[in-house]
Amino acid sequence: MVSSSKLVFDRVTAGRTCRDLWHPRFASCLRYNVHFWRTILPGSFKLYIPLLVLPPLVKLNDVTVRYLVEHTLQYVYISLCTYVQAALSLSAQCVLHNLLGRLNYWCVMFWPCLLGVAIGPPLPKQLLRLQAITFFNMSLEAAVRKSTSPVIQYARRSKTLATLTFMAFSSIILTCLRSGIVKQFWLVNPLQDAPLSKKPTGSVCSHAGRCWQYLADGMLKYGMVGIILEAGRAVLRKSKLLAQNPLAIFGQEFRSACNLKLGMFLACYVGIFRAGCCVLGRLNTREEVSHAAVAGFLAGVPYCLYPTYQIYTLGLTKAIEMGWEYCGNKTLNGTKPPTSIGVSLWRQLHRLPMLRLVQMFSFGYLGHVYAFYPHVSPVFHQKAMDVCSTNLTLDMKRRIATWLSEVM
Ligand SMILES: [Zn+2]
Ligand SMILES: [Zn+2]
Repeated sequence: MVSSSKLVFDRVTAGRTCRDLWHPRFASCLRYNVHFWRTILPGSFKLYIPLLVLPPLVKLNDVTVRYLVEHTLQYVYISLCTYVQAALSLSAQCVLHNLLGRLNYWCVMFWPCLLGVAIGPPLPKQLLRLQAITFFNMSLEAAVRKSTSPVIQYARRSKTLATLTFMAFSSIILTCLRSGIVKQFWLVNPLQDAPLSKKPTGSVCSHAGRCWQYLADGMLKYGMVGIILEAGRAVLRKSKLLAQNPLAIFGQEFRSACNLKLGMFLACYVGIFRAGCCVLGRLNTREEVSHAAVAGFLAGVPYCLYPTYQIYTLGLTKAIEMGWEYCGNKTLNGTKPPTSIGVSLWRQLHRLPMLRLVQMFSFGYLGHVYAFYPHVSPVFHQKAMDVCSTNLTLDMKRRIATWLSEVM
């Protein structure tokens, strides 16, 4: 299907060039390119200042000189990478226009942004992961907000559907972790590392101590973590009030700023999961991976107490990532030769640099949304684009909006 915005774009850009869209002040593409390669560097360094400042503040006690040097070098590297990616993307806008001889809908932002990331210098694994997942989450948010499909619109509003899907994500994640094939961070860790000697004799469970102790311990710990996190947030929000009067921490205004729901969600999540595993283990007289699947599914129910976008996307991306790793490890580690075309294709697919592909396509898509659907474009991405290009993309976006408004 050809979108209406593409048809309108093709109409308004007939006879217009990359100079009209990107650089009215520069007659030649070359001079414009020299100009921005020389001027946009500080933008990327500005964008990552929080990344430079925050981690040492969090670590505070164990900050060493060596850590500071390595951390600063990493900041410089990621800023330089981003600068090169941004400049390459901007150059690609002119190059693609000159190759095609006209402004093309997909060659404004989508392909240039994708190419900028693809040709640009590679990021270290940790940063690549962070960037790919952040971009992917933002793309998903934009795609859902942009969609006019009634099913998606209904899904966005329905708490029941959100809870049911979150339960499914939770089940996938905990099954992958319980199998021992995937090792990653999640809200709870289903694998017990307690020494077997601590285990009560005659118990089918692998945890130390009695079942009720194990359950109460988890619920208390996770409930406290939730309360401490929320209290920390309330302190930040009400810092002005507390600075004037520290005793206000016991007052009504501060208490109303504290939200206990995160603590409740975490306590119920771990409680249901642990109780489910113990009950199923006792009923079957042994522990199985499938019990984690059932208990993990049920543990997702408390999501309806605290339905937030952050927890939902964390569940979704973790389920995809872990499910992918699980399937990959299972097929790649199989010693048997591939028996069918399906299996060998699957193995080939798992050899692809997935993070890099996700990063590239998400970045291209976000660039596209930025230019043509600014009302659904994530605020953080818009800011990042404007800062890194020293407002060159912002001016371009405004020109497109003006052109489109002329024919609407
Ligand atoms: Zn140009
Ligand atoms: Zn137990």
